Amino acid sequence: MESPDVTFTLAYIVFTFCFVFTPNEFRSAGLTVQNLFSSWLGSEDIGFIQYHVKRSSLTLLVHSSIPLGYYAGMCIAAPEKNLPYINQVSAGWQAFLGLSLCLQLLSVGLIFYWSRCRWSNHPISRALQVHTGPQWAGWGAVATSINTEFRRIDKFASGAPGARVIVTDTWVMKVTTYYVHVAQQTDAHLTVTESRQHQMSPDSGTPTQTLTLRVASINQAVNPFDIRLMSTEYSELREKLHAPIRSAANVVIHQTINDRFLDTFRAQADLNQPYLLPSEMEVELCIGCMQVPAGAKLIRLCCEEGYDSGSECRQCFCRPMWCLSCLGRWFSSRQDQDRPETWLASSVPCPTCRSKFCILDVCLVR
Ligand SMILES: [Zn+2]
Ligand SMILES: [Zn+2]
Ligand SMILES: [Zn+2]
Repeated sequence: MESPDVTFTLAYIVFTFCFVFTPNEFRSAGLTVQNLFSSWLGSEDIGFIQYHVKRSSLTLLVHSSIPLGYYAGMCIAAPEKNLPYINQVSAGWQAFLGLSLCLQLLSVGLIFYWSRCRWSNHPISRALQVHTGPQWAGWGAVATSINTEFRRIDKFASGAPGARVIVTDTWVMKVTTYYVHVAQQTDAHLTVTESRQHQMSPDSGTPTQTLTLRVASINQAVNPFDIRLMSTEYSELREKLHAPIRSAANVVIHQTINDRFLDTFRAQADLNQPYLLPSEMEVELCIGCMQVPAGAKLIRLCCEEGYDSGSECRQCFCRPMWCLSCLGRWFSSRQDQDRPETWLASSVPCPTCRSKFCILDVCLVR
């Protein structure tokens, strides 16, 4: 049998490692700073920035108390060392206790400094201060903008809690243990710098690919940061992002077959002649996603007038009701999923009136 102090030391090291790096098992058991102090932290949805200012400060406080916690634990696990009586213990333990106390006091002092002037010294507040300008008078206004946009359901959010990526209408953000990186979409440019192939993921059982994207900003005060996501989430990110995404030459992105089809569908619609909207007609929101204007109209273009090509397509008289992405998803959902080579040549019924159309009949509304 090992002596209790060795057992305790090993257990404490494992616990510390799991508490700081939080594997999924620990997270589902609720042993995270966010969970343990959730009542004090409040809701992330109500005040995203305030929540993370509090959360990161608290995380620093808790993490810096780990060495002191070890000393306290050893007082109980190894009573023969007489650790509670500081003047009787060895020089090594005295030094350890001194350093642990210093670390704790330093973090308390740092958090006190951050909290001055309504937390304006906190690193997250400072990250927001660089975005102040004509649009936002102070970092408080930037925080309000982020809070409001975070509450919207159409934001893009992905990734593990320790490195979460959030993209809203105006902002690209990455939440880490002690910090929140913030870049404004209009200033940002993204580059896919790396792709990594994993043979099997425990969640899906299929090979997966993770992408690393570097977010850089033309705002010199914003430090570039890396975000990581699954290749299957890539098209969702691109839809939310107005900034262009470049790809390093050697990176191949494995999107799902449907995502790749959607790219082809969009490219073909760009080539087809546009539909010029009559002046009295107004474009409404797409009835599929209710988020963007209905930007697609079906016109039978694949076969010229008076020329019977044997095409199944019929003229659709519906007004524009769908956006291009929703129409593309509808198109691919009606295909034989095992035979993607047939998709481009096939016709599917219009989602509203059921007259058939093919990929050559999809026109962008101008
Ligand atoms: Zn839509
Ligand atoms: Zn129709
Ligand atoms: Zn057609």
